[in-house]
Amino acid sequence: SETTIAVDLPERRYDIVIGEDLLATAGERLAAALPRARYAVVSDSNVAALHLAPLKASLERQGSFLGSAVVAPGEATKCFPVLAKLCETLLDLGVERGDCVIAFGGGVVGDLGGFAASILRRGVRVVQMPTTLLAQVDSAIGGKTGIDTKQGKNLIGTFHQPSLVLADVAVLSTLSEREFRAGYAEVAKYGLLGDEPFFAWLEQNWGDVFSGHDGKRRHAVETSARAKAEVVVADEREESGRRALLNLGHTFGHALEAFAGYSDRLLHGEAIAIGMRLAFTYSVEHGLCPPEDAVRVEKHFAAVGLPTEIAAIPGDKPTTGELLRLMAQDKKVKGGKLALVLARGIGQAFVEDDVAMDRLTEFLKKEC
Ligand code: NAD
Ligand code: ZN
Repeated sequence: SETTIAVDLPERRYDIVIGEDLLATAGERLAAALPRARYAVVSDSNVAALHLAPLKASLERQGSFLGSAVVAPGEATKCFPVLAKLCETLLDLGVERGDCVIAFGGGVVGDLGGFAASILRRGVRVVQMPTTLLAQVDSAIGGKTGIDTKQGKNLIGTFHQPSLVLADVAVLSTLSEREFRAGYAEVAKYGLLGDEPFFAWLEQNWGDVFSGHDGKRRHAVETSARAKAEVVVADEREESGRRALLNLGHTFGHALEAFAGYSDRLLHGEAIAIGMRLAFTYSVEHGLCPPEDAVRVEKHFAAVGLPTEIAAIPGDKPTTGELLRLMAQDKKVKGGKLALVLARGIGQAFVEDDVAMDRLTEFLKKEC
């Protein structure tokens, strides 16, 4: 059994298919969705070792497997040298205009593989097969691709919508608990930004979402993927501001990640969990949000084991000044004002593009 979510964009319509054990039938599904294409799989060595065999066998049965390109795991892989080598490997595998790249991995593989597909032979199709919780609910949907440079993360890239997203929730069982929990922060984000009933459901059911019991993990992935897809359809290229709501917790979070050097010290999801709690506390302190809602956020993150305090970052902590500088770098400050996603309550996020830096300074002094 599976669920299909249609993503209807002006120049492309594609499906997100979410289910269990989709790898073994991927070949047939792809043959139906993209007739005549052949497939080159991009993956990282962790995912390839654990999950490539059934996918490869399924593509081979269709006679459509060109081969695989396996990159090293980790954020450092999202760089020009690896991209260049990957493009040449894909050409060596024989990828032609009508063929397709399958990005089979977490967000790193999705961003890198999607970028390679978008420039290879002036653009070939890409199918996203996300294998982390974060990728299934966020990065595989929406068509953003990219790599990092010394100037910052994701500054080079393209918009390249996938032709299909196949999310097999069964592969999440091999994910480390820490990676799963970090991805869960993005799941909770969808509830916090626009869906209070979903957040309430997560408060009741997070244990089964984590254990994979009773189809509840799948329900969480589906609800999140649908929320992401809706925002992408409303604002594909981040022009109307609708997509900006997805940045709940991210302006604080990106600054904390940058402070920790994008290392294992603080995963993206851990950083945005702290960031979301900060956004709610800031909203309460400015009379925008009932205090009980901020308490719920904090309690839920604490229950699942996500950090909520800057003090929870292992090692040295950022000073107020350092954090402000990093926040100002992440989001352009215009005339001493910064845009932040705040909340009128759980499920009621909004963009406040007029946050004065001195107010933020006062707030962060209490948090750092
Ligand atoms: P990741 O791709 O580095 O994966 C995390 C770790 O889990 C890696 O070590 C990987 O090898 C391993 N892994 C993946 N699937 C596994 C599985 N099923 N079992 C066991 N191990 C597995 O990290 P991520 O959190 O998935 O993605 C982070 C990246 O996503 C960042 O580079 C970020 O910039 C990007 N991102 C992109 C978008 C977008 O819209 N394009 C959105 C959010 C994040
Ligand atoms: Zn995020």
